[in-house]
Amino acid sequence: MQDSLASRRGFLSWGNRAVAAAGLASRPLVAASSRQDNEGEDYYEKLGVAKIINAAGTYTALTASTMPPSVRAAVARAAKHPVRLAELQTAAGVYLARQLRCEAAMVTSGAASSLTLGTAACMSVANRAAVHKIPTDLEGLKTEVIVQKAHRYDYDHAMRNCGARFVEVETLAEYEAAFNDRTVMTNYFNAAEAGQIGREDWIRVAHSHNVPCFNDAAADVPPISNLWNYTKMGFDLVAFSGGKGMRGPQNAGLLLGRKDLIAAAVLNSSPRSDTVGRGMKVAKEQIVGMVAAVDWFLSQTDAGMEADFRKRAERIAAQLKTVPTLEAKIVIPNVAANVVPHLLLRYDQGRVKISPLDVAAELRRGTPSIELHPGTGHKPAAGLPTDESTIVVGVWMLEPGEEAIVARRLREVLTKAVA
Ligand SMILES: *Cc1c(COP(=O)(O)O)cnc(C)c1O
Repeated sequence: MQDSLASRRGFLSWGNRAVAAAGLASRPLVAASSRQDNEGEDYYEKLGVAKIINAAGTYTALTASTMPPSVRAAVARAAKHPVRLAELQTAAGVYLARQLRCEAAMVTSGAASSLTLGTAACMSVANRAAVHKIPTDLEGLKTEVIVQKAHRYDYDHAMRNCGARFVEVETLAEYEAAFNDRTVMTNYFNAAEAGQIGREDWIRVAHSHNVPCFNDAAADVPPISNLWNYTKMGFDLVAFSGGKGMRGPQNAGLLLGRKDLIAAAVLNSSPRSDTVGRGMKVAKEQIVGMVAAVDWFLSQTDAGMEADFRKRAERIAAQLKTVPTLEAKIVIPNVAANVVPHLLLRYDQGRVKISPLDVAAELRRGTPSIELHPGTGHKPAAGLPTDESTIVVGVWMLEPGEEAIVARRLREVLTKAVA
C-alpha cells in the first residue's frame, strides 16, 4: 500500500525533474525574429522559450493542456470588457451547477485551490464565521480532517494551508471511531491506488456524523459523467482541475457541491481580502474560459475521444513496425486518473541498443523538442504497467498532426540504435 503510494510520488517528482531539465536543454540559442500577426506577437519566440510537443499528458510542469479554439476565442473576447466580478462569479456558478447537475458550483484557480477553499468552507461552517481566523488563529476551533492513510498525498498541503490537522485511518472501524467534536471534513483521493474504505462507506459514515465529504477528482475526466457522478453519489464537495482533461485555462478549476458549502467557499475567496483564498484570484478570463471549457467538454463523447486517442496511438505504432523486436500495446491506466489510451512500446535492448530513458532524452534534445510520458523507463505507476524497458507515449495532448512527428523521431532514434 505504502509502496504504491511512494512509487506514485517518485513518479510524479521524476516527471518534474525531467521537465525542469527539458526547459534548459531545449532553449534555442538565438531567438528567431519575432513577427506580429493577427494572433499578436509570439512571446515564446521573443523570450526564446521552446515550444514543445506534449507526448506526455496533462502534467502541470508541461503547462498541462492547450485550450480548444472555442475556449481560446471565449477567453480573448472576455478579456476585452470589464464586468462586475461578483455578477460574473455568481452567473458562472449557476450555469455550471445546471450543466453539471449539482446544487452549486464555483470556478477556482485550480483543483489545489478547490481543496483549500473547500477546507476553508468546511472549517468556517463548523466553527461559525472563522473565515478571518484561518489559518493562524485556530485555538479552540475544530480543525480535524479525516483521511485514509493510503490517501495521503502531496496535495494535502492545500488543506494544511487552512491550518487543518489530519487524522489518519485504515479500517472502517477506525474510521467510525475517528469522528469527534473537532472533525470538520473528510477527504477522499479519488484516484488513489490503495485504501480499504470505498466511496459509499466513506460517505455513509461521515454523513451519520453530519460531517461533509470532499472528493479530489482533479484528473478524473474522462469519462465525462464523472463531472456529476461523485456529487450524485453524495460527496458534499468535489474538485476538478480545469486545465487537465477539460482543457480550460491551466489556472482554473471547479469546486462543485452543496449550496451552503459553496457559499462558504465563496466567502473564503477573492476578492475578499481578509481570507485564505485572496491569493487564489480567478480573473474574468479564467472564469469565462472554464465555463467555455465545460461547454466544449460536454460537446464531446467518451467513445469519440477514446477512438481519436486510440487512432493516434495506432498511427504511431504503424510507423514503428520496422524496428526489430518492438512490440506496441495500447493501454488505459487502471486507476481513476488519466483514463485514456496510452501507447506502450517495448523492445529487446540487446537488439535496439538504447534505453527508454535515453530515447526520451534524445527526443527532448531534438527540434521540435518532444516530451514523452514520465512513466517511460520507470517501474509501474499511475495505473500503467511500465518498467525500465518501456517507452510510454501519452497521445491525448498531441495537437493534430503531431503524432507523425513523434513517430518519425521515435523511428529515427530507435533505428539508429539497432545493433
Ligand atoms: C492535478 C491535481 C491537483 C491539482 O490540480 P490543479 O488544477 O493543478 O490545481 C490536485 N489533486 C490531484 C489528485 C491532481 O491530480
